[in-house]
Amino acid sequence: MSETWNNRTKLVHGGTRRSQYNEVSEAIFLTQGFVYDTAEQAEARFIETGPDEFIYARYGNPTVAMFEDRIAMLEGAEDAFATASGMAAVSGALTSILKAGDHVVSAKALFGSCLYILENVLTRYGVEVTFVDGTDLDQWRSAMRPDTKAVFFESMSNPTLEVINIAAVSCIAHEFGATVVVDNVFSTPVFSKAIEQGADVVIYSATKHIDGQGRVLGGVVLGTKDYIRGTLEPYMKHTGGSLSPFNAWTLLKGLETIDLRVKAQAETALQIAEALEGHAVLERIIYPGLKGHAQHALVQSQLGGRGGTVLSLDLKGGKDAAFRFLNALTIPVISNNLGDAKSIATHPATTTHQRLSDELKDELGITPGLVRFSVGLEDGNDLVADLKQALAAAQA
Ligand SMILES: *Cc1c(COP(=O)(O)O)cnc(C)c1O
Repeated sequence: MSETWNNRTKLVHGGTRRSQYNEVSEAIFLTQGFVYDTAEQAEARFIETGPDEFIYARYGNPTVAMFEDRIAMLEGAEDAFATASGMAAVSGALTSILKAGDHVVSAKALFGSCLYILENVLTRYGVEVTFVDGTDLDQWRSAMRPDTKAVFFESMSNPTLEVINIAAVSCIAHEFGATVVVDNVFSTPVFSKAIEQGADVVIYSATKHIDGQGRVLGGVVLGTKDYIRGTLEPYMKHTGGSLSPFNAWTLLKGLETIDLRVKAQAETALQIAEALEGHAVLERIIYPGLKGHAQHALVQSQLGGRGGTVLSLDLKGGKDAAFRFLNALTIPVISNNLGDAKSIATHPATTTHQRLSDELKDELGITPGLVRFSVGLEDGNDLVADLKQALAAAQA
């Protein structure tokens, strides 16, 4: 029956496991281990672990399993493995399928730590990486080689919010037999249908919208049962990047409200983008939900027209103007998370993307005047008023 449920029902009831007490709210099984009735049972479980049997929390735990089942239902994936952070998910997903001598093609507009994995970690172990402009399908096609084992990209890039065509890139990658690994954070599991569109492996930093309240780190890798249990799980459970039961419980509760939260945030993001579009202090405003966004048609087909919960403002007057703007904001906080209930403003050039060379920043459009704005759950009119007064202060 649960297969026919719509998202909100899945998000509230999916994956629920009840103990002998029949609790309403999911229990936190804050335990590393599990007792076997007999030595024979212990032996049998190490030979084959059933779907609701557990050995050790690094291998699996009932609260973690509830989170995995619920997010897999939402994404329409066969299975999921929960990780200690988004980066444990990214590094695990890639490392579990690659070996020395393999080739990877990756979009170059990446979250700083993702770039580090591809540029500094994988290459140390003999994996060759080619970076392309993710929005240019010709570059993807010409970078592919017979030894290309995986392609990697963020479906909506950070912080310039370019949308990468999941279906088209997957089509090219699959011609070469490469696995398509998508970091889907900015698209959110609510608006994305990445697996349906061709992705083989989908990754979320659960720290972002899935928690949505800035409390815990977590991540998840989604894919076929074969990949998750046959390839990823052995790698993750032996290298140690598993999610803690307490964090899994927090994320499970986050999933109950994610549909409501993310839709409200996207609605407010569009309200802000429309209210600020064409503002005299702005060089440009980037929001994938705006009709003027360079890939508006792709946003329609890939994300059902939803532009996500983040927008970026490029202020005239560079870093000084951006800092005056940030310091004048009264409601949003200056920080570097996103997808939170609280609106968060970030200056990528000096924080999250500080490490990048000036050339790469230029190439990626990470200008000194760029401010990333993660829209929270506050009232949209209050946010518009606050942003407008801060833009006026930036001009001074
Ligand atoms: C935050 C983020 C990550 C890393 O997630 P953590 O939970 O912080 O480890 C990876 N990719 C993208 C696109 C992110 O925004």
